[in-house]
Amino acid sequence: MEEAMTVELICVGTELLLGNIVNTNAAFISEKCAMLGLSMYYQSVVGDNPGRLEHLLHMAKERSDVIILSGGLGPTQDDLTKEIAARVMDKSLVEDSKVRKAIQEFMTKRGNTITENNWKQALVPEDCIVLHNSNGTAPGIIMEDEDTRIILLPGPPNELIPMFEEQVYSYLHNLQPEIICSKMVKLCGIGESAAETKILDLINTQKNPTVAPYAKTGEVHLRITAKAANEKDAFTMIAPMEEELKRRFGNLIYTDDPQVTLEMVVAKLLKKYHFTVTTAESCTGGLLAARLVNVSGISENFKEGYITYSNDAKEKLLGVSHETLKTYGAVSSQTAAEMAEGGAKAAKVDICVSITGIAGPEGGTEEKPVGLVYIGCYCKGKVYTKKNLYTGNRSKIREYSVATALTLLRKAILNEVNERNEKTTRNLNKMNK
Ligand code: ATP
Repeated sequence: MEEAMTVELICVGTELLLGNIVNTNAAFISEKCAMLGLSMYYQSVVGDNPGRLEHLLHMAKERSDVIILSGGLGPTQDDLTKEIAARVMDKSLVEDSKVRKAIQEFMTKRGNTITENNWKQALVPEDCIVLHNSNGTAPGIIMEDEDTRIILLPGPPNELIPMFEEQVYSYLHNLQPEIICSKMVKLCGIGESAAETKILDLINTQKNPTVAPYAKTGEVHLRITAKAANEKDAFTMIAPMEEELKRRFGNLIYTDDPQVTLEMVVAKLLKKYHFTVTTAESCTGGLLAARLVNVSGISENFKEGYITYSNDAKEKLLGVSHETLKTYGAVSSQTAAEMAEGGAKAAKVDICVSITGIAGPEGGTEEKPVGLVYIGCYCKGKVYTKKNLYTGNRSKIREYSVATALTLLRKAILNEVNERNEKTTRNLNKMNK
């Protein structure tokens, strides 16, 4: 395979250096370049300073095939990107009558008065490709010489994004005919290192496609990436790797759709099997209920939840026994189990998920440290509990707890359905004997 073209990104603007604005253009352009199969090795941000920009451009020209710049194409004195890039490429600026006309039309349409400095935007480097700006007056510009291509784009995202999508993407695609496509397989109920261990042989021998794990809060995502001439070929290459991951991880995979979340999968299962559910939360204070309510239409299966932060509330609303709280404490598997069972009884539902733990930063002891969280799940007469020890700050611990609770809820439903199916098969076999 031919070596990938290298692309470098330079974002111009003092506002970016000061942190006044977030560099969303960099995220957007990087993602597109990765999709195009271009190798991006360097990105920089430089203020509106001609000397430093020129120095950076010379460096970039030495090491990269394509240089993309965003910002500094405006009409004012400190907008110097075009002037400096033209100088580095040894090109002089000439007025482009089409751009002049476009500026005139754009300003008139909006009822804006044209000032003398607006015409600065009609100047473009000789022999360049001019990119039309449908949302502003600064045209985009592509300059080429034997070794380098420089692409200048306006800073405002509402100008840059359509210009990139409509004009720059196809230009870059023609330079680099291979594209990169990826597919995400999402897992729950397994940690990142355990997941990686299971696919270490694939990672070590991979060429095209490749697979890489990404740790998320309470989940692991595996990204399969293939490089091919077109999307269809790339996905044909991805398919066997995806099958292999399904074989290795089985039920731990909850989706291969990037838009689908864990709560969406849980909601779908509840709906499919007509199960009703409630929540009994202590340290997460309603976060689990909020995750379920993220899914529209959940009201059919989830009608109420309990926030029982104090021991009193656990006794009063969920019927946790005073004895259990006294003997084992609020943060214990016994309490988690009673919360789940009591919650299901109180709400008259099939399933109840409970969470009780120490989110910190205060309240930890040697025996029960910060991050110790018990999750319980009552499902149609069976009670599951899980002990967890999370690290992180208060909000991370609470988020992890909710992810684990959703994972346990999914597992309880799948077990219940599995057992039901097995029973049916046994009965059918008996009848057939
Ligand atoms: P204009 O013609 O509007 O002057 P320009 O090409 O000169 O555009 P800048 O002056 O550098 O661009 O930036 C204009 C505005 O665009 C900034 O105030 C900011 O809101 C937005 N912007 C610039 N660069 C970025 C970036 N990298 N990421 C996100 N927004 C940006």
